[in-house]
Amino acid sequence: QVITRFAPSPTGFLHIGGARTALFCSLFARHHGGQFKLRIEDTDRARSTDEAVEAILEGLAWLGLNWDGDVVSQFERADRHRAVATELLQTGKAFKCYCTPEEVESLREAAFAEGRALRSPWRDRDPSQAPDGAAFVVRFRAPEDGVEIEDAVQGNVSWAAKEFDDLILLRNDGAPTYNLAVVVDDHDMGVTHIIRGDDHLTNAARQTQIYRALGWDVPVFAHIPLIHGPDGKKLSKRHGALGVEAYRDMGYLPEGLRNYLLRLGWAKGDQELFTDEEMVEAFDLDGLNKAPARLDFDKMASVNAFHMKRADDARLTDLFWDAIAGREDLRTDDTARAWVFKAMGTIKDRAKTLAEIEDQTAFLLRPRPFKLEGKQAKALNDEARERLSRLRDVLAGQADWSEAGLDARLKSFAEEEAVGFGKVGMPLRAAVTGGAPAPDMSFVLAVLGREETLSRLDDQL
Ligand code: GLU
Repeated sequence: QVITRFAPSPTGFLHIGGARTALFCSLFARHHGGQFKLRIEDTDRARSTDEAVEAILEGLAWLGLNWDGDVVSQFERADRHRAVATELLQTGKAFKCYCTPEEVESLREAAFAEGRALRSPWRDRDPSQAPDGAAFVVRFRAPEDGVEIEDAVQGNVSWAAKEFDDLILLRNDGAPTYNLAVVVDDHDMGVTHIIRGDDHLTNAARQTQIYRALGWDVPVFAHIPLIHGPDGKKLSKRHGALGVEAYRDMGYLPEGLRNYLLRLGWAKGDQELFTDEEMVEAFDLDGLNKAPARLDFDKMASVNAFHMKRADDARLTDLFWDAIAGREDLRTDDTARAWVFKAMGTIKDRAKTLAEIEDQTAFLLRPRPFKLEGKQAKALNDEARERLSRLRDVLAGQADWSEAGLDARLKSFAEEEAVGFGKVGMPLRAAVTGGAPAPDMSFVLAVLGREETLSRLDDQL
């Protein structure tokens, strides 16, 4: 069975790059009917606050990436890590090193000068020679041969033995170090495929050595290039919008962001738009790119637009309503909400993000009376005003308030007035929408209803 895992260190938010890693891990597991697990690498106690962990869980939940089983805490597994270090001591694959920090420093300098890795003299020394009660660290006995891995993205990568020190597994206070903890956790969680950022590629070599020393199966590695900003430089604070919640706040739908992130570093033919089912069906490791991908906000918006069109009207209305909660410059009463819901099917086709829904619903939500300016004010000249007043009476008596009924009536009214439709439509639009972007007037009137329509006309008349 395929088992993948996402193993973030808590930093206070779910990084957009981490979100993409989690998506790939999740899709790969789902594609193979396997499991996707979550492990929080919380051994840095200063950074690993409850809030920082919560932010990651929230980000994943918002993005709809659901993990299987319990969240594993790396910190809580320290005893198990120590037990494995002890096993390595017993088999001679690790040893206790009693060097003082000063000794390590001079060994390191000597090794550096000779172009080789650090080797502790305690590799081969009898531990009984150590002074009583002396502090020690547990070091991995670095193998004398090099390491080669077959990475699913990077291909064959190899390192010479001289690149690897006798790695510390347990510090002198017994705290396990990162590479030991990762290997033990991945093994115990049954992880078969490790998909992560290529900043961990060298760790994969270290970890492979530890797996082998333990006689454990080495998982498949897939190291993906990090995400770059629109300027081609590695994504950093400078670029803004590092955390997934920033994208939520910009009005992206989770499925839109999932689709965009999927294509950011993975491809199958030239298909850009994917439903969730299609993603699971299509995802494989072959499609992962070796070259870093750049964030492209225009593309993100256009991918999101596809998902806006497909999204359920009630859900979009809920999301939009949450986003404008407490706003005083907009109507947020239940009547207004009902208008938005009624109009959503049309409006969502014109908005790439939830944020753009705000522009597209301004004709419904701007508080009255509208103050007309410029073109709108001009559209309501005396002649137009008189015509609108006649139209007002017609609409007051209009029985069929459906979009089609209104459309027919507006057209016949223009004929009765012996003018082109523009002479009716323009002033009507100015008075009813205040000049905000809006669909066809018959649609607008149908959504607003008779009472609101007449009130808006009266405001201007
Ligand atoms: N905790 C590491 C990070 O956040 C990931 C380690 C891994 O995936 O093996 O970069």
